[in-house]
Amino acid sequence: MENHLHTIPVRDWLKSPFQPLLISGPCSVETEEQFVETAKLLAATGRVNLLRGGLWKPRTRPNSFEGVGAIGLEWMVRARAETGLKLTTEVATAEHVELCLKHGIDVLWIGARTTVNPFSVQEIADALKGVDIPVIVKNPVNPDLQLWIGALERIYQSGITKLVAMHRGFSHFGDSIYRNKPMWEIPIALKTQYPQLSIFCDPSHICGRRDLLLQVAQKALDLGMDGLMLESHLTPDQAWSDAKQQVTPHALVDLLDQLQVRATSTDDRNFVNELHALRSRIDKVDEEIIQLIAKRMNITQELGRYKRDHNITILQVDRWKEIIDTRTMLADKLGLTREFIMHYLEQLHKESIRTQTRIMNEENGDIASQKNATDSIAP
Ligand code: PEP
Ligand code: MN
Repeated sequence: MENHLHTIPVRDWLKSPFQPLLISGPCSVETEEQFVETAKLLAATGRVNLLRGGLWKPRTRPNSFEGVGAIGLEWMVRARAETGLKLTTEVATAEHVELCLKHGIDVLWIGARTTVNPFSVQEIADALKGVDIPVIVKNPVNPDLQLWIGALERIYQSGITKLVAMHRGFSHFGDSIYRNKPMWEIPIALKTQYPQLSIFCDPSHICGRRDLLLQVAQKALDLGMDGLMLESHLTPDQAWSDAKQQVTPHALVDLLDQLQVRATSTDDRNFVNELHALRSRIDKVDEEIIQLIAKRMNITQELGRYKRDHNITILQVDRWKEIIDTRTMLADKLGLTREFIMHYLEQLHKESIRTQTRIMNEENGDIASQKNATDSIAP
């Protein structure tokens, strides 16, 4: 099983002085005129690295516009000829891949509804064998990191090394301000596991509406993502798909101008020294915290033995409630969120019950139940 993705960082093949890298264009290619005119306006901004347009649209409900299909490839090629912008589009089948390769589309992307299906991803991967083309893999619609990694691996194993992951948020049931919840911890986990892998963010499909785009794009940059995909349309309100989230090329520039681009590191001596000083203070506090936790666990063991010797149950609900009340009150006073401190307390309590269960079982000599005894008791 391949555990490493020796991918080529995006900046090595998409040469650009821009920060962030930017993919823009309409959600869908609608007409030749709409696409070419939008492309010209985007090229004139001087900020776009790749021109996007969807030809085959995976729509949630039937009877919506499902894309113009293969005919739009010609229009895309014309837009490239007139603007110099490289092209990218979504592929969902081997046939799409073949058509795109035939027309010299520069970069392919796999949509969220395709990433969920290993059969479809494998079909695309097989069609890409022996081809040197960059591929972007959007996250699956459901928050499943392994499924996302699996799709990246399938494409990688077919020989694609110009590989990029794209974060576009996750489906959910119920109310949210987002069309697709960002769940930032998932792309962060992906980056932690594959530091070399380039990751883009697609604020358009996360937000589903224009007014949230800036804050989501800013967050993506603050997390060190390599680039953005933002949908842009000549006349967004008249768009045949995703009208609410698209912006004019003019509004796109406005948004880009408001983004703060921060460096991931710097050579500034004073800054580096101060950073080291702050980090060593954090190191020291972390060490103290771990020692205190160990001290607490030692008392827990004593407590477990005491309860055992007096034949008392491990779980004392009133005591657990009292711990929650007093600790969250203190946390609140110190400006820590209740949610954060509850996570900490729950983990602590779980470990404490695990320890006490082990002590109880030691006396019973019940080796088998020592291992997994805690899950059924933990609150
Ligand atoms: C798109 O980019 O137009 C699209 C369909 O995106 P997603 O796969 O993220 O829904
Ligand atoms: Mn769209």
